[in-house]
Amino acid sequence: MNVYDSQLIAKFLIKNGFSSVNTPEDADIIFINTCSVREHAETRAFGRIASLNRLKIDNPNLKLFVVGCMAKRMEEKIWTKFPFVNFIVGPDNYRKIPDLLNDSITRGIFTTENNSEKYTGCIASNDRKVSSFIAVTRGCNNFCSYCIVPYLRGRERSRNHKDIMREITLKAFEGVKEIILLGQNVNSYNYGVVNFAGLLKMVQTVPQIERARFITSHPKDVTDELLDIISSSDKICNHLHLPLQSGSNRILSLMNRQYTREYYIKLVEKIRGKLQSVAITTDILVGFPTEKEEDFKATLDIIRRIRFDFAYMFRYSKREGTRAAELGDIPEKIKGERLKEVIALQNKITKDKNSELVGKSVQVLVEAKSRRADEFYGKTKENKAVVLSGNVQIGDIVNVKVSEIRGWTPYGKVVYE
Ligand code: SF4
Repeated sequence: MNVYDSQLIAKFLIKNGFSSVNTPEDADIIFINTCSVREHAETRAFGRIASLNRLKIDNPNLKLFVVGCMAKRMEEKIWTKFPFVNFIVGPDNYRKIPDLLNDSITRGIFTTENNSEKYTGCIASNDRKVSSFIAVTRGCNNFCSYCIVPYLRGRERSRNHKDIMREITLKAFEGVKEIILLGQNVNSYNYGVVNFAGLLKMVQTVPQIERARFITSHPKDVTDELLDIISSSDKICNHLHLPLQSGSNRILSLMNRQYTREYYIKLVEKIRGKLQSVAITTDILVGFPTEKEEDFKATLDIIRRIRFDFAYMFRYSKREGTRAAELGDIPEKIKGERLKEVIALQNKITKDKNSELVGKSVQVLVEAKSRRADEFYGKTKENKAVVLSGNVQIGDIVNVKVSEIRGWTPYGKVVYE
């Protein structure tokens, strides 16, 4: 979502006659787009902001903007700790940015929550070219007990489907082949009579768009109608990112995730029954307050049973202001050990599952040049990254015969059939 928001801000600047430069030293304006989801992200952002002070000495006209969730959560701290920062702008206040580009105003905080802000009529710039993010909802109503997002990005609101389709059509004319619909809880999209399955039905009608994806889905909002549209469409990718977080019902309840492990397992069985060669990926959070060895074992057990294609794995990070912050914390050492164990288990599963592709042909959308000059990088419909060689252009959809696994990444040559 932050990548998309950065593209939204970039468009405001382009419209006002600015263009991007390659190094901070050449910039007249610098934006630091921040994330508050984990303490580590905030610590890094503080380091980054501090490091930019030196540029102000060489270029006193340089304007520094701190935007995003940290701007809203820590406005006072940033304001006093970094007096060289010009503007602090929250996620609902980006429309203000063009007004701040002229010289009549030099410092200010703009972080008012605005639950009606959907950036209607604003089209994000796209530097990914082949694949483009489109936010379809903003905010979240779920209030998972560990998560700060609903407090910073406000209540969930869905964009008008006509506005979304206008943006997609425009991107299609610019050469975009793949659309990635974004939302904190993307599958609860609802605008008037159009639900998420209805929105996907519309997206797949745009002729130039070859693929549509979406992140992040909440397990409680995966409907039969959604699975049916994925199953019947050539364009909607057979990949679901379904954050599990924990395999322990006690912890899931404390997290306010609104499902049980039994529900999740049944849901995965249903998805795999309905969708051919579907990939299921997840997020796992270890070391939640009060997590005991038996809770952690339940998480390992469900990972072994489900065999996710991939997982993002994190240790719990206390966020002041959330309900989980009142539940205490467990020692960092235990969190670290559990994280190591879960990563080792899932990485092996990821590698084993990718190894099953060796000898098979997969369809890949070529996204970019790889690190080696004669190789390219792309993704399968199941969202698996593949390195390939062959006579291809970025944006091509090609069949690749997988010959080996490098690390855990499938590699192969293009086959012409
Ligand atoms: S679904 Fe839960 S974890 Fe995701 S943004 Fe909403 S509150 Fe946070």
